[in-house]
Amino acid sequence: MTLKLYNTMGRELQDFVPITPGKAGFYGCGPTVYNYAHIGNLRAYVFQDILYKTLEFLGYETTHVMNITDIGHLTGDQDSGKDKMLETAKEKGKTVLEIADFYTKAFFKDTERLNIKRPTVVCKATDHIQDMIELIKRIEANGHTYMAGGNLYFDISTFPDYGKLALLNLDDLKAGARIDIDENKRNPYDFVLWFTKSKFENQALVWDSPWGRGYPGWHIECSAMSMKYLGEEIDIHTGGIDHIPIHHTNEIAQSEGATGHKWVHYWLHNEFLVINKGKMSKSQGNFLTLQSLIDKGYDPLDYRYFLLGAHYRSQIMFSWEAMDSAKNTRKSLEKTVKKLLSQIPEGQEDSINADKELTSPEVKKAMESFSAALAADLSTPKALASMWSLVKTEGVPVSEILSGILVMDKILGIGLEEMIFDKTGSNSGIPAEEIGEIEQLVQERQAAKKSKDFQRADEIRNLLKDKGIILEDKPTGTTWKKI
Ligand code: AMP
Ligand code: ZN
Repeated sequence: MTLKLYNTMGRELQDFVPITPGKAGFYGCGPTVYNYAHIGNLRAYVFQDILYKTLEFLGYETTHVMNITDIGHLTGDQDSGKDKMLETAKEKGKTVLEIADFYTKAFFKDTERLNIKRPTVVCKATDHIQDMIELIKRIEANGHTYMAGGNLYFDISTFPDYGKLALLNLDDLKAGARIDIDENKRNPYDFVLWFTKSKFENQALVWDSPWGRGYPGWHIECSAMSMKYLGEEIDIHTGGIDHIPIHHTNEIAQSEGATGHKWVHYWLHNEFLVINKGKMSKSQGNFLTLQSLIDKGYDPLDYRYFLLGAHYRSQIMFSWEAMDSAKNTRKSLEKTVKKLLSQIPEGQEDSINADKELTSPEVKKAMESFSAALAADLSTPKALASMWSLVKTEGVPVSEILSGILVMDKILGIGLEEMIFDKTGSNSGIPAEEIGEIEQLVQERQAAKKSKDFQRADEIRNLLKDKGIILEDKPTGTTWKKI
């Protein structure tokens, strides 16, 4: 089945053709860890999760890379405003690294509660300063930079394709449409690659560089880290739509300015979650966290269900009524599945299996419509509809329905897989010797990942998959289940 994705570059649906057949690599802009993620941010990560799992479901061996921004992100995306990390550190009387560590942990706690699979690679900006410096050197060698007022800037006049992603009008660019207060810039759209003259007193983290002691601009981290882990040409890059005009536009200028060739093949952007017709932000007093939903009695997966009810490219309006409706619908889905589970005779739990060959035409039809929905630019509303039609199918073996649900929920992640595993007893009944072997391989894979030997890590994952063992990477470690 051909996967079609809406490419912001070109503004059209395109067939996904990976650079390396059978493999897919994608980079998703990760969180700036100066605060808790708000539920709008979390929409971006549920979207990345659906993309990741869909690529794997469609048979691509997928590498998902996500950055953690712990340096350089100002309150204004265009080198303006205050340093987000520094501000929080000052406010809380902690160091920047303590703040980063605290909110990174909080972020992964949230993503875990939302059944978001941990990316293959999670990389922190502060661990990659040297990679950024090396990349900036290449950009400089290609004549795209200038020094002014102690900072190194990217000169967009040297990159004629600058506005191609955001469809920026070059005449507007010349007229200086964006208001900018940095008088060092030759063009208001120029941006900082390396700050040496910090505008903030007591800048917490600084490094030596060919341009002086200082710290990187925000955008360079994504170019440097994506290239490090995915190569100089990558399949897919994601982020929220707010990143199109500045962050991703600047990432392209830097990356292609350094390599001299095309960088990203497919640009995917999620629309915003809005509340009271406005952007979710702390200053507007409409900043909701996942914890605040839990405190009101919702399960995190109710929120996931709510998000999946809309296509990722549609704006969603948050409301408590809509949350109630998602909660009730998910509850009734769970009830239906529970009823089906109760029809499986004792001792026959093995008949529910995600790898089972499905024979019933009705079940096969639901599975095909599910795959087609996801392949059509990740249509989760249609995929949910296929799940509903499957649970309501009558006159077919219940084990086939439940096996189909198991496959679907591996992607949708709305809590049904866990319910089914509870019933089937997951890993019970596996001989101790086999458990020992599995545990040993899981540990070997952890070590391979730690030493960045992703090839060996993938080999082990596939080896275990062939034995029916599915791994799940969580912040607390890797868990496994036999299915
Ligand atoms: P940040 O931590 O600010 O860099 O944002 C993390 C991700 O959340 C980015 O991909 C943003 O584009 C995305 N994002 C921010 N606000 C929203 C929102 N209200 N709805 C959906 N995505 C958002
Ligand atoms: Zn980014």
